[in-house]
Amino acid sequence: MSHLSDLDIAKQSTLKPISEIAEKAGIPNEAIEPYGHFKGKVNINKLENLDSKGKVVLVTALSPTPAGEGKSTVTVGLADAFNQLNEKVMVALREPSLGPVFGMKGGATGGGYAQVLPMEEINLHFNGDLHAITTANNALSAFIDNHIYQGNELNIDSRRVEWKRVLDMNDRELRQVVVGLGGPGRGVPREDGFDITVASEIMAIFCLSNNIKDLKENISNITIGYTFDRKPVTVRDLKVEGALTLILKEAIKPNIVQTIEGTPALVHGGPFANIAHGCNSIIATNTARKLADIVVTESGFGSDLGAEKFMDIKARKAGFDPSAVVIVATIRALKMHGGVNKDSLKTEDVEAVKKGIVNLERHVNNIKQFGVEPVVAINAFIHDTDKEVQFVLDWCKENDIKVALTEVWEKGGKGGIDLAKEVLSVLNSPQQFKHLYDLDLSIEDKINTIVQKVYGGKSVNFSDKALKQLKTIKDNGWDNYPVCMAKTQYSFTDDAKVLGAPTDFNITIRELSPRTGAGFIVALTGDIMTMPGLPKKPAALNMDVAEDGSAIGLF
Ligand code: ADP
Repeated sequence: MSHLSDLDIAKQSTLKPISEIAEKAGIPNEAIEPYGHFKGKVNINKLENLDSKGKVVLVTALSPTPAGEGKSTVTVGLADAFNQLNEKVMVALREPSLGPVFGMKGGATGGGYAQVLPMEEINLHFNGDLHAITTANNALSAFIDNHIYQGNELNIDSRRVEWKRVLDMNDRELRQVVVGLGGPGRGVPREDGFDITVASEIMAIFCLSNNIKDLKENISNITIGYTFDRKPVTVRDLKVEGALTLILKEAIKPNIVQTIEGTPALVHGGPFANIAHGCNSIIATNTARKLADIVVTESGFGSDLGAEKFMDIKARKAGFDPSAVVIVATIRALKMHGGVNKDSLKTEDVEAVKKGIVNLERHVNNIKQFGVEPVVAINAFIHDTDKEVQFVLDWCKENDIKVALTEVWEKGGKGGIDLAKEVLSVLNSPQQFKHLYDLDLSIEDKINTIVQKVYGGKSVNFSDKALKQLKTIKDNGWDNYPVCMAKTQYSFTDDAKVLGAPTDFNITIRELSPRTGAGFIVALTGDIMTMPGLPKKPAALNMDVAEDGSAIGLF
């Protein structure tokens, strides 16, 4: 049984030179751009003549508890298991944001013996991508304010600038700010605010573009705000799409690293799934599909958030059908959904597991609605008892659901062989993937469909503000975009405290935000914030750096 921290295990691992990993992945030498010894970027222009044919396995989860249920861990471990079975596999993950790294949730590199490495560097400023995205976002803010200051030829109403500044840190103080103070020589005062970088539309565009040309076109289409006569103003009007794309020219190349077991991994792009669309970049996933037969990837949180957006936004835009879906379940999360409180999760309670299974059931049914057969992965924790695990295994068998006990955290790839075999059986049988809704439905109907079919709710209330925004969306012909729901990950409802599988509830849409560059409409529910705050005791309190420069306390 492992008692080492993720960082200890990572430090004990021997990494292979990145050239060796690239060779294993089939990346020609001229396409790899090493960043040091163990990281690199892939020049996708050199892979242009390959087809994206690999099958996509999506890893999602039941509604998580605050600690995270091990989705990244299972994603990495499953890829390592395929590797052990001699399948040609790559893993495609999101890159971490410093907000959760220093806040509460932790990193995004997996855990135990199922990690991508070098975890210290991936979790901190990984190859500079998030900084480039932050810079591109804030350069646009600077160009907007400068345009207004220099005479405002476009007639931008400074009260209706929707574009916000961003920072890759949880910083609640900056949610609402006033900029341009100090007199006529210092700028034009207006209300502004900061989001976290992973909620930036630049991040969404970065992840939803197919190549540089597409990236530039999508950036041109961003609506930054409205004129005094309420006409949308775009980046194209400001003529800065070239400069913004230039800032991203290195970041847009997918990053290659390795798992502890030497499986090639692409880690690229990372919008949050509760406030954004939650998937790594299309460029990385489709590059992995050029190189491998099986690509294991994840979306954030449960089927209601990450997976729905993976299916209805990412897969639609990327042009692939997911071939299999894994739902990660943990005994402790099932117990919480069954009413046990956070401090009592280590005590055996089969009755609570039995009660909480309704949450897993809804996630299973959600995935079936997309026409793909789900496989449940029970991510084994030390405190799980045989009776609790047996109950879940039996429940799955009775309901004809594929299931495997998964011990990748403790054992690496060999702890995921059973899961890999179950997933292979799905990959080898034809699936009937379909999106949840058609794009020609109205925005209200798309939201209604998601709420009723995926969340299990009754109806949707729109605030007065949202109703006005719906009218703007219709007037501008933006009705055909998919919807990117922003909702708490902890509950199917918009209230984080309602666990299990609630029915008969309403969802309130507080605000709608058209993202005409990314090509979706963000629907904000409940009190979800696009700039998180830090908890009372942030993870930062445990962190330090040794005299030799190595990290201490990074999980
Ligand atoms: P998610 O992707 O769901 O947020 P992660 O895979 O990042 O979750 O894991 C969150 C944390 O939980 C990590 O520190 C990881 O080491 C730990 N963890 C994951 N699976 C297990 C397990 N089976 N036993 C103990 N700890 C685990």
